[in-house]
Amino acid sequence: MEIEFFGAAREVTGSCHIVRTGGKTILLDCGLFQGKRKESEEKNLRLPVPVDEIDAIVLSHAHMDHAGRLPYLTAKGYDKTIWCTSATRDLAAIMLADSAHIQEMDAKFLSKRNREAVQPLYDGDDARRAVEQMIGVPYKKAVDVLPGVSATFTDAGHILGSASVVLEAREGGSSTRLVFSGDVGRWGLAIIRDPQPPERADAVIMESTYGNRDHESIDGARDKLAKAVTETAARGGRLLIPAFSVGRTQEIVYGLHALALADRIPKIPIYIDSPLATDATAIFEAHPEVYDRNEDLVRTSNQLFRFDLVRYTRDVEESKKLNTMNGPMVIIAASGMAEGGRILHHLLHGASDPRNTILVVGFMAEHTLGRRIVERAPFLRIFGEEVPLRAQVEIINGYSAHADRTELQRWLGAVKGTSPSLERVFLVHGEPDAQDALAGQLGEHGYKASCPTPGTKVQL
Ligand SMILES: [Zn+2]
Ligand SMILES: [Zn+2]
Repeated sequence: MEIEFFGAAREVTGSCHIVRTGGKTILLDCGLFQGKRKESEEKNLRLPVPVDEIDAIVLSHAHMDHAGRLPYLTAKGYDKTIWCTSATRDLAAIMLADSAHIQEMDAKFLSKRNREAVQPLYDGDDARRAVEQMIGVPYKKAVDVLPGVSATFTDAGHILGSASVVLEAREGGSSTRLVFSGDVGRWGLAIIRDPQPPERADAVIMESTYGNRDHESIDGARDKLAKAVTETAARGGRLLIPAFSVGRTQEIVYGLHALALADRIPKIPIYIDSPLATDATAIFEAHPEVYDRNEDLVRTSNQLFRFDLVRYTRDVEESKKLNTMNGPMVIIAASGMAEGGRILHHLLHGASDPRNTILVVGFMAEHTLGRRIVERAPFLRIFGEEVPLRAQVEIINGYSAHADRTELQRWLGAVKGTSPSLERVFLVHGEPDAQDALAGQLGEHGYKASCPTPGTKVQL
């Protein structure tokens, strides 16, 4: 078996690893490169291998940095199977449609600005075709993705449907087991099951996003959420929460549900102002078979994301109406880093009012509006306007969906515990600082950890 590293090599985005075995080629993920515009545009146009050489694709989860280039492959003629879990397939259907829409809008904007036709990376039809090529399979069930090569998904504990992958190639009398972590989540998240580290690996490709830090505990997050709602309501203000539509939004809604049932927050309306979040919530509801049933609420309620305070707003008029309404309320809207989406309108109207609170529940990358909020900048620039930031800013760090360095070590330790000869670990999906720190830490624990650059080939 040969692995060639292509994307998410010495960086976080663009997850894509090429596996060759028995004369066949399999891709693990094919995600979008994100970040600096020009650079990622060029990277996104580059195919990992010619499309007619790809025999199968195995997808770890629906996030765009893992699945976001699949429609580009179908646009280029890839017509074979994409293997994933059923929940990943359903989430990918809405997320790829949304991504195609963004690609088309971007192309339109650039065409106008540059006065020449700019083609989108892919369109809605390509996205639909990619989803049609997906086959959803259950966790823990080995399926032959090619003759002599099987894939088994185990819970990665990261987002709904997320998986780690065991790729087993049988040649002659022997077999090689490659484990790909996907994005490793965390133990103790609500709704999402704990990571299930796969067994018996000969080598591991592991993510390293937080390879150099530890998170705040998950336990304090709900208390902080309750405090933010209660204090904002007491001031008669609005609680504005920028959140990714898939995952974080459902997690917050579920948390608010639990708090409302326990009478720990006042009865104020909660608006989920995002069509994508509304669709994503329906998909969460369609896959109770993958829920973690540790919490009472998950065991006893079949309406986790719907209760009397919550309203989902889909159309633009409804969304605009929120700005003319009085009284305290909670508004959850995308995008997660406040770089676009409806949250911008709410910030434009609400950031200057000291009664309001902006609640940060996710990572805010450098150079985003979200980061300006975290840094409590005196002014925010929104739609070309300078808006003074007078609202309170509260930050909850406990909501990460990624394992920290201690949790990654725990995950890998569990894989090693069942593997007689595991030494080689290839770190992917991390900034160089995080990767180098984790490689050092793993080295001290007896692993041979490396951080392959794009184009590196290794033989197993
Ligand atoms: Zn992810
Ligand atoms: Zn990722």
